[in-house]
Amino acid sequence: MKAPSVQASPSKVATPNFRAKYIKAYILFLLILSLLFYFEYFHERPQPIRKSLCRISEEVNRLYSCNVDCGNKRQQLTMWDKVQAGEHNYFQSLRRIFSNSIKPLSDFQFKPFIRNVSIAEWKFFDWFSQLYTRSGKSALLNRDSQVVSLTRSLVDKSSCSEAVGFVRDWLKARDWNVSLQLVPSRNGDDKENRMNVFATRFGDPNPSVVFCSHLDTVPPFIPSSIGEDGFLYGRGVCDARGLVASMLVAAQNFSKGVGLLFVTGEETDHAGMIEANKLGLDTKYLVVGEPTENKMAVAQAGVLKMKLISQGVSCHSAYPERGKSATVPLIKLLSELLEFKDYPKDPELGETILNVGVIGGGIASNVVPDEASADIMFRVVSEPEVVERIVTKRAKHYSITTKTYSKNCPVRLYHLEGFPTFVAKYNTDIPYAKFYHKALLFGACSILDAHTSQERISLDDLRKLPENYIHIAKTLLDS
Ligand SMILES: [Zn+2]
Repeated sequence: MKAPSVQASPSKVATPNFRAKYIKAYILFLLILSLLFYFEYFHERPQPIRKSLCRISEEVNRLYSCNVDCGNKRQQLTMWDKVQAGEHNYFQSLRRIFSNSIKPLSDFQFKPFIRNVSIAEWKFFDWFSQLYTRSGKSALLNRDSQVVSLTRSLVDKSSCSEAVGFVRDWLKARDWNVSLQLVPSRNGDDKENRMNVFATRFGDPNPSVVFCSHLDTVPPFIPSSIGEDGFLYGRGVCDARGLVASMLVAAQNFSKGVGLLFVTGEETDHAGMIEANKLGLDTKYLVVGEPTENKMAVAQAGVLKMKLISQGVSCHSAYPERGKSATVPLIKLLSELLEFKDYPKDPELGETILNVGVIGGGIASNVVPDEASADIMFRVVSEPEVVERIVTKRAKHYSITTKTYSKNCPVRLYHLEGFPTFVAKYNTDIPYAKFYHKALLFGACSILDAHTSQERISLDDLRKLPENYIHIAKTLLDS
């Protein structure tokens, strides 16, 4: 009896079967989806899906920004020509992007996830609030990945002039009035071609807030790379091209009132900022980007760089009475300076710091040296002349001559409520700028990572940085 009934109406049986299968598949799909959401939101770190999506978007953004920003039409055409000529394989680069992008998915770890399930329950409401916040922040997420790709594009420029050209083209493509300012070269090197980039909105030549940082970096060049630890590595990611990228992104939110100044020579002679004084600006607030670990500086220590030169008379080391050693008085003076206790102190800035950076002199162990010198640097908390007088007075006692290379006073800085504060012991371009009323110093990442082979910035901090700069500029414009 059963067999004919099945054969009699096969279509009537197949439909519910198909439906059942469809529903089962759909439920399975939903289960997988919810499992993925569980991984995404309850799995503390890493968050593989989000990380993976971010990577795809960053890589594609990077490719896109290279095609559009690095170049004008002519360059794009050249690239297309290359594709046609078979020199450039887009499919290969896309495959590389994709395989790089799905790498974070291999971070799935089932055990930690199971451990987290117990705490997942009380996190349930938190999950909803996160979902809500994230869905409302799609524009923000866009900005997030833009700042990372922009930082990488800047860091991957091996020379400062390339970075300057990139910033100029990027801003011009976004309706900014951009001018380049030639900065005098060091030691008469005409090939150096150092430039500042200054940009304002059309019709707003003297904005009251100017975002400012530097495009030069210390050597050697290190290309950008994203580490598994959630940091972006490379020369200049934190000092200071990551901050430049954040300022570029932040400035797009303002149609007037905000300008951009990116100088060169901050790491060497501050010539870029000195030259920027000739732009004729009268800026109310200068917001300077340097590594400050998301804190706002209340003050910056000053600097005094000096050379100590000791002259002697050389002779055979077995008969030292026939000559005069240049190194001995220098050693005595240096130890006296290092042990001196009465350098100026400041309740806010702290103590004066001395570093004996370079010592040189003599030619061989069996020759009494006739020449010796030392390069010393003070982080001063008073007028540098006070410390300069202390050094000169003691140097005279040992017949040592002194030469001051550079000096600048400490600077008191303007800071906003709501940001943690600190005192910057390191030097920046701020003392060399003469065109502002109030200066602020703010950026992400640590000065301790700057100038090292492991220079890095946390991707989380980098993604938040444009928002912080927008907040700062809005607060200043409203004040
Ligand atoms: Zn710097």
